[in-house]
Amino acid sequence: MKFFAKNYSYNKWLPDLPKAVVLACSDGRIQEYQDKFLEEHLGTTNYDRVFIPGGPGALAVGDQNEYKSRSSQVWAEVSFMIEAHLLKKAVLIFHGAAGDGPEAAVCGDYFRVHPDLTGVEMAKKQIEDALAAKAKIKAAYPQVSVEVFRLAVDRQSHVQFILIEDLVE
Ligand SMILES: [Zn+2]
Repeated sequence: MKFFAKNYSYNKWLPDLPKAVVLACSDGRIQEYQDKFLEEHLGTTNYDRVFIPGGPGALAVGDQNEYKSRSSQVWAEVSFMIEAHLLKKAVLIFHGAAGDGPEAAVCGDYFRVHPDLTGVEMAKKQIEDALAAKAKIKAAYPQVSVEVFRLAVDRQSHVQFILIEDLVE
């Protein structure tokens, strides 16, 4: 085995522990906005990532058995990061269309898991899942502050981040 070969060098690796875990959808179309939002509005740059289809929605135990095991797996990974890195902050980001937004902006994983829901029903389900995911983390890790947002794309394709509590009627 060789240890030196053609390589790509970057700055020095830093051992500092990340300050937060971010749980978000793996959809490549939202990452650039998300990175900016995390840095500019939350001051979060050094964070652990749990990026999977559906993001924090994957924590919600659906009625569908096939997604129940994914939910436990995601919970195990999030717990591992919180404990291993002594994290005090979790940021959960759901994504989809705003009320007037394009259907193409709806999270594909929500379509997969809930094929029977309309776009508006899907947004309601995300709010429900968001509150449940936050409660689950707070119950197990009261020392962790949990902030939950929904990235919504509107009719003009503008991207907004809305605090989940502001969406609760
Ligand atoms: Zn998605």
